[in-house]
Formats: sequence, structure tokens, C-alpha cells
Amino acid sequence: MGTTRKVIVIGSGPAGYTAAIYAARANLAPLMLTGAQPGGQLMLTTLVENYPGFVEGIQGPELMETMKKQAEHFGTEMIAEDVTAVDFSRHPFVVRAGHASWEGHTVIIATGATAKLLGLPAEAKLMGRGVSTCATCDGFFFKDQNIMVVGGGDSAMEEALYLSRLGKKVDVVHRRDTLRASKIMQERAFKNPKIEFVWDSAVDDVMDVERGKVTAVRLRNLKTGALSNRQVGGLFIAIGHEPNTQIFRGQIALLPNGYIKVKPGTTETSVPGVFAAGDVQDHVYRQAVTAAGTGCMAALEAERYLEATQPHST
Ligand code: NAP
Repeated sequence: MGTTRKVIVIGSGPAGYTAAIYAARANLAPLMLTGAQPGGQLMLTTLVENYPGFVEGIQGPELMETMKKQAEHFGTEMIAEDVTAVDFSRHPFVVRAGHASWEGHTVIIATGATAKLLGLPAEAKLMGRGVSTCATCDGFFFKDQNIMVVGGGDSAMEEALYLSRLGKKVDVVHRRDTLRASKIMQERAFKNPKIEFVWDSAVDDVMDVERGKVTAVRLRNLKTGALSNRQVGGLFIAIGHEPNTQIFRGQIALLPNGYIKVKPGTTETSVPGVFAAGDVQDHVYRQAVTAAGTGCMAALEAERYLEATQPHST
């Protein structure tokens, strides 16, 4: 198992990298388990224009690679493994990945959330090329175009309302004929002249993989089976997110929706010494910059915790 680490960071999106940068600069020599596919959700986007500091924007994967290098530059040790189990019932905490395990005085969880997808092959191929899971990130690219949103919950309404300010028209495609969204969000969407609802329908295919961009969506009416095409430039999937908390079940308190419960205004979880940053504890804002902000908070709180509990090690 080796020596006990002061800080172990699990996950490698903006929250994890920021936590590692702060912990490394505080001389805490963090160990980071990045996951087998590092970088988080920004690896699935193209141009990021709302992360401060980049006048012309920056490609999502490039931003994550830069954050990784910055964390390494200050002495973060990275291991590209998926964490398979944790034990927070004992201290030092134990983090396992396959057959290897590490001990840590503190753990920062930054495993993020995964946007649910429809599962169509064309959706995967056109992700970041017209298919998106984030209107605030990518809506701008579809200014004055026809846009489609899939989903019937609050997220779908929020995305549609946001996109209606940018696009020519927004089609909201829902698999039933009633929405799951709250009444207030429904009413806002119903009142918006740019939003049209397409009920009882599912996305059957997305065109045009060969041209590498979204040009149209084929819909299937789930009651009649009828197929129809709609010309759109952007397709936003808003059918919910899944927080990546499976391995923490039974170890720390989770909210009923599966996200990690933190003490308001902090990144403290129900286990002292375990902190949570980024989308894994945020189902409201879900932005790269807010994730980075809470990553910074987690590192500062971990440092404070170590000073109080391990005064000779910091
Ligand atoms: P959600 O409430 O779970 O809604 C997901 C929607 O996607 C549902 O309408 C669902 O259809 C549909 N859906 C799920 N899987 C699908 C699939 N495979 N194909 C097609 N449609 C599918 O998720 P959410 O909208 O992301 O909201 C999550 C939570 O955050 C909720 O508690 C919500 O209230 C909250 N939230 C609040 C706000 C706000 O108040 N401003 C904004 C965003 C989110 P069915 O309805 O048929 O199941």
C-alpha cells in the first residue's frame, strides 16, 4: 500500500485538477486517480467560450490537458486508473483501483456526473459536432438556426428557454404527451413563441455523420410509428444526468437523487476528511468554472483539516 498520502484526489475534470493544483502548491504532494479516461465531460465538447481567461475560447480537451499539465507541474502524481472501491470507515482512508490500494489522510471526490444519452450510434459520432448535452456551453454555435431539445424535465425546459434566445426555433421532443418538468417551467416554455413541442416522439436517427455535422433529425412517433424529418443544426440531449457516486454508496451520505451531500457553502461530506467538489455534488450549476471553484475550496478545506488533525505532516 506504500506511504499514507496527505491528499488523494479521485477524478480528473476541472474540479479534480483544480483541487490537485491547489493541494500541490500547498506542498501536500497529492495523488490523483484520474480514471482510465481522464478529463471528464469537457473531453466531449469542442469550443469552450465561457471559461474565463480565453478570449477566443479554447477546445475542451485542450483545456483539460492544460489543467493536467499544470497539476503535474506542481508535483501531482497521476495514476490513470478507475477507482473501484473506497473505505471511509477507517482512517487513514483507503482507495482501491483494481488490485492496488492507497491510504490517504484526506480524500477529495471529483468524479463528476455523466449526461445520459439516447444511445444512438450517430449521437456518439456527432457529439461535439452539433450534438450537445449543455446549452449554456454550446448554444451560441447555433445562433439563428433551428435547434432540437430532447427531454421533458426541468433541464429540457431550461435548455429550450435558453436556446430560444439564440436560435430561430426550438423543437422540444418528448417521449410522452405530458411533461415531467415543474409547472412554472412548463408554463414558461408553453408561452414562448419560439418553442414547439413534439409529443410522443423519439429520436430515431441523427444526420449527417458523413458530413461531420448535424443537419437533420429523424423522429419516430411512438404511438403511430410514423417517421418524419426535421432540419436542425443542433441537437441538445437533456434527459438527465447520473452522478458518478456508485462506489461511494454506503460510505458517505448521498442525496435522494444520488449526488453527494455536502454541508452548504463547503465541500465537506458526512465523513470528516472526505470532501466533494464539482458536478458530483452539484446538480444545479454544472459549469466547468463552478466545478473548478469548488475544487479550489476542497483543497483549501483539506489543507485546513490536515493542519488540525495532522499538525506535523503539513
Ligand atoms: P429528469 O427530471 O429526470 O427528467 C428527464 C426527462 O428526460 C424526463 O422527461 C424523461 O422522460 C426524459 N427521458 C429520460 N430518459 C429518456 C430517454 N432515454 N429517451 C427520451 N427521454 C428520456 O431530469 P432533469 O430534467 O435533468 O432534472 C433533474 C433534477 O434537477 C430534477 O429534480 C429537476 O427538477 C432539477 N432541475 C431543476 C431545474 C430548475 O428548477 N430550474 C433545472 C434543471 C434541473 P419521462 O418524463 O417520460 O420519464
